[in-house]
Amino acid sequence: MADAKMNIRDPVEGNSSANSYRFNTASDKQIKEGLASDVYFTRTLDEIAQSGTDKRVAAEITVSGPLGGWLAFCGLDEVLELLGGNDVDVYSIPEGSMIPPRDDHGIPVPVMRIEGKYSDFGRLETALLGFICQATGICTYSTKIKRILGDTPYFSFGIRRMHPAISPMIDRAAYIGGSAGVSGILGAQLIGQDPVGTMPHALSLLVGDDAAWKLSASDTREGQKKVLLIDTFMDEKFAAIRAAETIKGIDFIRLDTPSSRRGNFGSLIREVRWELDLRGFKNIKIMVSGGLNAENISELKEAGAEAFGIGTSIASAKPYDFAMDIVEVEGKPLTKRGKYSGGKNVYRCESCGSVRVEPASDREYICSCGNRVPNMIRLIMKRGSLTSRKENVKEIRERCMKDLAGVASLKH
Ligand SMILES: [Zn+2]
Repeated sequence: MADAKMNIRDPVEGNSSANSYRFNTASDKQIKEGLASDVYFTRTLDEIAQSGTDKRVAAEITVSGPLGGWLAFCGLDEVLELLGGNDVDVYSIPEGSMIPPRDDHGIPVPVMRIEGKYSDFGRLETALLGFICQATGICTYSTKIKRILGDTPYFSFGIRRMHPAISPMIDRAAYIGGSAGVSGILGAQLIGQDPVGTMPHALSLLVGDDAAWKLSASDTREGQKKVLLIDTFMDEKFAAIRAAETIKGIDFIRLDTPSSRRGNFGSLIREVRWELDLRGFKNIKIMVSGGLNAENISELKEAGAEAFGIGTSIASAKPYDFAMDIVEVEGKPLTKRGKYSGGKNVYRCESCGSVRVEPASDREYICSCGNRVPNMIRLIMKRGSLTSRKENVKEIRERCMKDLAGVASLKH
């Protein structure tokens, strides 16, 4: 029999009756209540409650696993939704900031610190880590793509590879990390843009290439680029020429060439570019998609691709291995083996890229290069309420792009 206390199926949101549905996802309410958690937290809290040993603690979040370069911190928005209303104080580096997992001396860099009674947030640890581990993984991978492509736009096309319940999160994190747009309807809503869509192969299969191209090109919504998918039936070169010669005002032709036909994708792009240029279609750009990642896009850009649809590699990026550890109990430094006790400040010098972790204090920090450096770990939630207005996604993206081009590039 299920434990009645666990309330696995929420009676309102999770009931499977003829008029409702139930996917294998936790509802917002269940996550907020701490049910999307490992069971040992619940048991620990029960024991603490019974023995009356609840204490005020400070817990920090650091990367514990493989390091892999600077990360782009993402997912804070959901953490604040999770912790809001609980009697906790939250300190954090700003979302979108780029930071290495270790400082110049090898000390783990905390991205957040939570202070409060253990019983007020211990049960939320699993969900909290899940929010930032995955979003930071996606956002960081997106910054890697952005670093390679520079001003050449790429779009997040990968939500089909992951559980649909998290599609808005995936698109948001990809966008913060540098994607110019996203294909998901809900993700686009979250970032405040129109979703980016081209045309599916299905349209050519249903009505034929010529009719499909005409239909796609007739979309006259403001700002809508004319992007024609040309690889459904024909060889890319001849299809590109035919599309260019029969449809007016094309912005992009898109190559989504299947891997079995691809051979050397770069050579294919070069050849199509040559043939279009030769016929006076220099204004028609080439967009590519299908199986693209940080390893193979550079050569495609060199070959002449001027826009990229990038799916699985961003959407399924490896999560960062964040862990949460108690570093203070009742105001005194205390932590487990292998961790560094006491609350900490993080100083990142914009001039030289130096990053240092120091014991938390209000004193001014001067970098060895002479630059005065502010503490990145700031109070953002006091007793469960935000201390300032919620940032919008564009502001967070701008911060990430500034860090990527600035301080993060100093150390790469
Ligand atoms: Zn410095």
